[in-house]
Amino acid sequence: MELLLMGPPGAGKGTQAEVLTEKFNIPHISTGDMFRAAVKEGTELGKKAKECMDKGQLVPDEVTIGIVKERLSKDDCKKGFLLDGFPRTVEQADALTKILEELKLPNIRVLNINVPKEELVERAVGRRICKGCGKTYHLKFNPPKKENVCDACGKELYQRADDTAETMNERIGVYEASTKPLIEYYKKMGVYEEVDGKLSIEKVSEALIGLLS
Ligand code: ADP
Ligand code: ADP
Ligand code: ZN
Repeated sequence: MELLLMGPPGAGKGTQAEVLTEKFNIPHISTGDMFRAAVKEGTELGKKAKECMDKGQLVPDEVTIGIVKERLSKDDCKKGFLLDGFPRTVEQADALTKILEELKLPNIRVLNINVPKEELVERAVGRRICKGCGKTYHLKFNPPKKENVCDACGKELYQRADDTAETMNERIGVYEASTKPLIEYYKKMGVYEEVDGKLSIEKVSEALIGLLS
């Protein structure tokens, strides 16, 4: 099963990816997570990525395409995978089409989580992430049982540096200009499906699983 989870920043891609990758036992490939790991390690890639991420802009296509190509070539992707946050530009989508042809994986499904612009800033600003296992919470919509502590592993939660109202406005603008055109792109390819992302986390999961079952 080769899945591509799309949606604006803060739509719920990471949250739903946790559910779907566990249910279908496929690797979760998030370019955002890969860049954040590189920033933490202080690698050259991390330095390059941090500059763009802090401003709410995209990491250049050639860099992003390179890391995805390398990741998809690993053995664990042979049984399928879920891509979260990639592609974000037409150039990335074209590159992905080529990579999937090379890997002989013609059955990609594109699932878009539709959330109106007005709700995205509140979702992102209230987002908290576990330092230990990466699980995503929300102060209001999905709080941990104990304040600032991960239910799953007991580690502390943190807030992403780019989850401010200001950076979110930039990221939403970038989404509309560069990523939204991919909806038409995948509609034309006949592989596009969408769910209503305004509903609760559980309802969105149900809708996605419904499409895939
Ligand atoms: P979001 O929660 O906004 O969807 P991500 O964690 O997917 O965020 O991405 C965080 C940041 O990492 C983006 O704002 C961008 O700077 C960078 N990034 C992630 N994926 C890509 C990509 N496919 N192309 C370019 N930049 C990316
Ligand atoms: P993305 O990966 O698309 O940026 P996340 O999955 O990280 O989005 O979700 C952004 C924030 O919104 C998180 O704090 C998450 O807990 C919360 N969230 C996700 N889905 C929903 C939902 N359906 N309703 C309310 N809040 C949600
Ligand atoms: Zn945890």
